[in-house]
Amino acid sequence: MQVWKFGGTSVGKPERMHSIRELLLTDPSRKIVVLSALSGSTNALIAIGEAAKANEDASAAKQIGDLKAHYDAFIKELYSTEAGLAKGQEIIDNEFGFIRSLVGIKPFASKQEKEIVAEGELLSTQLFQGYLEEVGDSSVLLPALEFMRIDADNEPELEKIEEKLTSILAQHPDKQTIVTQGFICRNPREEVDNLKRGGSDYTASLIGGAIRAEEIQIWTDIDGMHNNDPRIVKRTFPIRELTFEEAAELAYFGAKILHPSTITPAKLRGVPVRLKNTMQPEAPGTLIANQSSDREIKAIAAKDNITAIYIHSTRMLNAYGFLRRVFEIFEKYKTPVDMITTSEVSVSVTIDNSEHLESITAELREFADLEENDSDQNIICIVGNFSADKEGIALKVLDAMKNIPIRMISYGASEHNLSLLIHSKYKAEALNVLNERLFYYEDAMKGIFTAP
Ligand code: ASP
Ligand code: MG
Repeated sequence: MQVWKFGGTSVGKPERMHSIRELLLTDPSRKIVVLSALSGSTNALIAIGEAAKANEDASAAKQIGDLKAHYDAFIKELYSTEAGLAKGQEIIDNEFGFIRSLVGIKPFASKQEKEIVAEGELLSTQLFQGYLEEVGDSSVLLPALEFMRIDADNEPELEKIEEKLTSILAQHPDKQTIVTQGFICRNPREEVDNLKRGGSDYTASLIGGAIRAEEIQIWTDIDGMHNNDPRIVKRTFPIRELTFEEAAELAYFGAKILHPSTITPAKLRGVPVRLKNTMQPEAPGTLIANQSSDREIKAIAAKDNITAIYIHSTRMLNAYGFLRRVFEIFEKYKTPVDMITTSEVSVSVTIDNSEHLESITAELREFADLEENDSDQNIICIVGNFSADKEGIALKVLDAMKNIPIRMISYGASEHNLSLLIHSKYKAEALNVLNERLFYYEDAMKGIFTAP
């Protein structure tokens, strides 16, 4: 069994839903199809929730009306029979009736807000299932709210998901396509919740991991993960193969194509993840698996809005326990640290969430001296398998960066990542010089490189 996930733009137009069905027919394996909401819907639903929370009921009602009109028009092109259209209209009327009733509840709480946001996926999947029924395909809709679970820390519960999903699937042994919602789940209070923005990828990976699928395919509108940011760098190309570790680094450090947690369940259960392009289904895309036979240096990514904190203390000299005190403060403020470098009397760290920066630095100052923080920094992250890179990744990187001031370097935590901290004004230059040096220079020297 395979798991195929289609994002908002892939379901955002009636003809795109028709193409998904065509795609499903090209492959004989049984599939669980995970869908996002139609593009724009989640944003619109969040805005409706915000209006309701602010007691702007007229505005909420107007926005609900506008969104419903979009769906009313959508089904006219999605379905071609009277019966199909009537069914589609019934789905829309039901769900929008429910949204209206939620907006009316006062005080409007986060519970209602999450229920409203979940409507995007509830609508897209029912409409798509209605279409498969209309054309007579073998399919069934499984409500994600019956098996997708998160715990009190908002972490998905893979074992529970596996247990529930396996028993639900056993009831539909003869269905070729099993449609379900991405993004939405239930929390321990049995309320409707979600896996955070972009969470449908995560759903696909959780389902794929839970049922130990043959493969998870994430269908988007780009041809896989690129070796660099195509918006900033001219010569980029899709990466054919990545390991789970490399993909996780890239997803976290900026490559927007995947939700950063996506890789975890797939890696845990050893299920390969393939990134595919709905506009170009024949293109190979990117395969993420335990091993990759591709080139050693895979990609460069940048993470924006980074703040660096420089901590000095002579008390650090030959002392133990100093780092613990530092990190306890970040833990207290639930602020993840991205990069760390240390010397005998200093430690520098970066964070991308500066919400608690003032409190954190105030507490650090109680036992250390702080240099002025650097905000507006950028982490440039080079990802690959450096154990195999005999000539030395650091040499190449520093050579490329010779004209750009580097604030921090982190290398050696894994053989998959080298990170540099620079001021964001150098970001575009850094991505470009690294691209030329790491992907074009040596290949050009060897005369073997044929960039697509
Ligand atoms: N619809 C949700 C969002 O827009 C989840 C997803 O698309 O992955 O964030
Ligand atoms: Mg997405």
